[in-house]
Amino acid sequence: MIQLKSRREIECMKQAGCIAASALAAAGRAVQEGITTGELDRLIHHFITSHGAEPTFLGYGGFPGSACISINDEVIHGIPGKRALKYGDLVKIDVGATYNGYVGDCANTFVVGDCDDEAKKLIDVTRQCFYEGIAHAQVGNRISDISHAIQTYVEQNGFSVVRKYVGHGVGSELHEDPEVPNFGSPGKGARLLAGMTIAIEPMVNQGTFDVRVLSDGWTVVTRDRKLSAHYENTIVITENGPVILTAPEEE
Ligand code: MG
Repeated sequence: MIQLKSRREIECMKQAGCIAASALAAAGRAVQEGITTGELDRLIHHFITSHGAEPTFLGYGGFPGSACISINDEVIHGIPGKRALKYGDLVKIDVGATYNGYVGDCANTFVVGDCDDEAKKLIDVTRQCFYEGIAHAQVGNRISDISHAIQTYVEQNGFSVVRKYVGHGVGSELHEDPEVPNFGSPGKGARLLAGMTIAIEPMVNQGTFDVRVLSDGWTVVTRDRKLSAHYENTIVITENGPVILTAPEEE
């Protein structure tokens, strides 16, 4: 069942979203050659807890980190640890913060130093397809209007969207109804209403959209081991259009 959020709940989600987005931005600034994913995870844990929030992912389904950190062909759910970043790596960081019982969920793709033009295009298309999607996050549209806009933009640019993992409703729980796929034909799924809060998170692959899970039980990788990028924000649908709730603090 889709829970519409009250004005008060949306305000709580905005606070949680700000902490999550600011932790993500801080981790992005720390991305450099030699730092380990475990060190980035500790930075995120410290940022979230020192702002009075909890890292939503820590212990979720048994996940051992405060953030998911996935490199290159790893799509999502990478476990932070001893791996040190190398020049040219694509680093996907996914962060959730729970504050006063409400969740903000966001992700971004960072580059260690510099990467080739094709990888840069992958990152740009992944970010832009999110904005193509939320342009359709309007009261009266349906969920798959967002999905279709994302898939169309990605495929026009020669990349593919992951099918097996999708965006989701978010609120007092990390994963609520409805599912928000990044693919599909328009005009399907739940009708969008003011007060719906959803995490839209395109995962975009350079090659095949097909993925598999590594033997650690968590890390999702591309089947062809080509690159993948990820971008995510939590949004609320309002009568005046979509509003991003995972906006970082002004610096
Ligand atoms: Mg999410």
